[in-house]
Formats: sequence, C-alpha cells, structure tokens
Amino acid sequence: MLTKKYLDMIMTTVRTRIAPSPTGFPHVGTAYIALFNLCFAKQHGGEFILRIEDTDQQRSTPESEKMILDSLRWLGLNWSEGPDVGGPHAPYRQSERMGIYKQYALELVEKGHAFYCFASAEELDDMRAAQQARGETPKYDGRGLHLSDAEVKQRLAAGKPHVIRMKVPEEGICKFNDLLRGEVEIPWAQVDMQILLKTDGLPTYHLANVVDDHLMQITHVLRGEEWLPSAPKHQLLYQYFGWDMPTLCHMPLLRNPDKSKLSKRKNPTSINYYKDIGVLPEALLNYLGRMGWSMPDEREVFKLQDMMDHFDIQRVSLGGPVFDVDKLNWLNGQWIKSLTPIQLLERLLAWQNNPAKLEDIAQAIQPRINLLSEAVNWSTLYFNHMPQLNADMFVHKKLTPEQVRQSLQFAIWRLEKTFTWNNDTVSQILMDLANQMGIKLRDFMPTFFIAIAGSTSATPIMQAMVTIGPDLTYARLRHALDIVGSPSKKELKVWEKLNESIQLPKNDAIDS
Ligand code: GLU
Repeated sequence: MLTKKYLDMIMTTVRTRIAPSPTGFPHVGTAYIALFNLCFAKQHGGEFILRIEDTDQQRSTPESEKMILDSLRWLGLNWSEGPDVGGPHAPYRQSERMGIYKQYALELVEKGHAFYCFASAEELDDMRAAQQARGETPKYDGRGLHLSDAEVKQRLAAGKPHVIRMKVPEEGICKFNDLLRGEVEIPWAQVDMQILLKTDGLPTYHLANVVDDHLMQITHVLRGEEWLPSAPKHQLLYQYFGWDMPTLCHMPLLRNPDKSKLSKRKNPTSINYYKDIGVLPEALLNYLGRMGWSMPDEREVFKLQDMMDHFDIQRVSLGGPVFDVDKLNWLNGQWIKSLTPIQLLERLLAWQNNPAKLEDIAQAIQPRINLLSEAVNWSTLYFNHMPQLNADMFVHKKLTPEQVRQSLQFAIWRLEKTFTWNNDTVSQILMDLANQMGIKLRDFMPTFFIAIAGSTSATPIMQAMVTIGPDLTYARLRHALDIVGSPSKKELKVWEKLNESIQLPKNDAIDS
C-alpha cells in the first residue's frame, strides 16, 4: 500500500546536498557522505547539489575549497548545482550570501524566539568557570533573557556589542525522526541557547545551514553522525520559522581498524593521498560505498552506477564501518586486474601526468645522471608509496633516538599547519625546527632523507617533499615515526608543550 509519506516523497523532487567547510584537506569522510547523498538523490530521480559552508572566515581558505571540489570531481561525484556550476539558488558559497542571514535572525527576535545577549567573552568565561566549580556542565545560563525591552533598546542604541541567540526550552525532551534511527530523543537540558548571529553580524553554521537548506529546497539531509546533537536546534529553528524540516539521516562515522573515529594519526584521511598512491577513483568510491552498505547480492566490486541503481538507504547499518587501508588496496587490485593492459597503461600514464611535477623531477635528477637509464633509480622516491625502512637506518651518531623521534613528530605538527606548500615554506619550517632543537642542519636532515627516500643518498629532500606534496610527505613521516616509535600518550603531552616552547623567542621561553 502506498503510504502518505511515500506519496509525498515521490511528489516532491528529492534534493540532497553536500555542504563541506573548506578548512582543510579533502577528507574521505566528505566523499563518503557525498556519495550517499548522490545515490539517494539519483535513486529518487532527484538532484544532488554542493554548497560551500565557509561561515568560519578565519579557518576557510580558497585553496581548501579548490582541493575539495577537485577531489570530489576526480571521484566522479558530480553535482548539478554548486559554486562552480551555478544554478537557480546561486550563490552556493555562504560567504557570498552574507546579506541573507541577518534578516532571519531578526525575524526570530521579532517573533520572540530569539534574543539579544550583550555578555562579553570574559563574563561568559566567568559564568562557565563558576558552573564548573559547582560541578555543573558549562552552558549558557539564559542571562540575556532577563533584560527588559527598554534595556535592550537602550543598549542597542548605545552600540553595545551583542549576539543573537535562539531560545531553547529548559526542560523536557526533544524528539525528532532520523531515517536510520527512527525516533531520537535528546533532553533539552543538553541543548545550548545557540548563537545564531555573531558580534560581527555574521551567522553561525546553524543559522546559515538551516536558512540555506530551506532556500535551496533541500528535502533530505544525509550527514555524519557527529551532527546528531545539532538536530534539536535545527528542528526548533524550522519550527520557529514555520518551515518544513528536511528528513534527517545521520550516517555512521567511519572508523579506524581499532574502532576509534577515523583520524589521520592512524590512517591517511586525505583523498589526495589515495590519489597520489594510485588508488583508482572507481575503487575508492566502491570502497566508500561498502562503508555500512552492501549491494543486495552482496557483491564486493561495483560501479557508481550499480550503486545508484540498487541504492536503498535502509540497507545502511549503524555499526561503525571500518576504513581499512589493506582492504581498500585489495579492492583497488580487483579494479586494476579487471582492466585490459591498454587501459592499465592509460591509467598509469594519466596518474602522474602532471607536467609541473615531471619538470621538477627532471631538474632534481639532472645533475646526478650520465645516462638516461640512471633516471629510474633517482626518481623512484617521487613515484613510490613508502620506502622500505627499519629502525637501524635512523641511528645517528650525533643524535639521541629521542631527538630523532621528536624531530619527525615536531616536523609533522608544523608542516600540517601550513597551507602554502612550496620550497620556501617547507625549508623554512625544517630549518627553524633544527635551529630551535639546537641540532646542526647536517645532523638533522639524514632522518628526513631516510623517512622520505629510504636513503641518505637522494636528490635534495626538502625539494622532494615539495614535489611529492603534503599528503605523501605526511604519510612517509608518520610511517618513519611508527618505525622509530610513535610517542606514547604521556610523551605526546610533554612533546606538544616542548614543541611550542622552543618556538617562542628565547626570553619568553625562559620566563614561562
Ligand atoms: N558544514 C558542515 C560540515 O562541514 C555541514 C554539516 C551538515 O551537513 O549539516 O560537515
């Protein structure tokens, strides 16, 4: 029998979206959520769109946005509307929609669902500290609610800095439906009176996300489980505005083999890493499609089109799917074996067909070769996945094992912070680190030669790191650290402080 819900669903065009925040490298988790949104939309004859959520202007960068778009396109996850292709609801980048949100926050104030709060950051810090001292979970205590209309008017007229917060019931239980979990209950006591509009007049994620999903006519929100605690706020905002809420569906989080949340410390998480080591886009999609989902006939190897044809969201299981690199490699092998030799050759040539990279390699090996055939050995490091390493290779007569381990870990931390990956930035970071650790560059660099090239006899290694790119560099440095001994939890804490303190100017370091 056709239920009303089903009829409603087929009468409206299904519209799903991926809404990445461009604050880092393109994460496999973003591709995973995008894949399920695309399949869900296509299976219902609907549309899949891409919206950039860059309300956090401090952390968002155009480089990150470009990498995310490029890597999703490389995978073949195509959107029909987005910042690069336009569409009827343009612009699709929240930073270009900043004029839209304020009126919605004001509308909620007018309707009595939101309020002004003039509390300063220090005042709120004191409030939280007092709550913690009483053994309570820190939470906004609703102090702005007690101001009279006259007081609010007077403070606004005096130009006092303020935010707009949404009202949230203090008692009772919020209930909402999740496509995979059924009815979910979260006590209102756990939900904060969320800031909607910040002191600078710009929206927070919550306001912009709800307003845009409504204006862009999104019907289904498939997103990661980590957003489940935000659902009560979003549901309340839809009610306050008097809008229909899209159907929510929180997907299980990807996990490391030890079941912890997928993290780059245990598994490379950047899509670019998998591209660099020669995973085929079809294989990565296929693998992500198997994260909590399976084909009705349980076949392991399938194409995106197969997944779209047979997709059924109810087949997603909530047990945390494990992202296991060995299984991905096996699956990639199945894809590679299914190609004809000519197709494989085409893939091989396309894989490293990057003229700028190839020119860098030619330049690096030129002073070292007499015969073209010698190029093969010298250039291995640029195409390899990981060098063969053992702990003895890192023994250095001037350095303690701890210095070797620290130099690798500190370098990873510092390099990860830079978005500009070029000769100047990479060499500056490493030279500063050597200097601050009090190690001569000549003694400092062998560790990095071994980690990146597996040998101290290689082309200049800082330049090589630039050429192979950040993702392979991190992966090799982390692998080296594993071989010499990753820091224990206790060491991590001490090392983090040490890494920071040696970066301070000498006097400050002594003072602190
Ligand atoms: N911008 C959010 C993110 O980065 C989107 C969350 C959502 O899908 O609502 O994941």
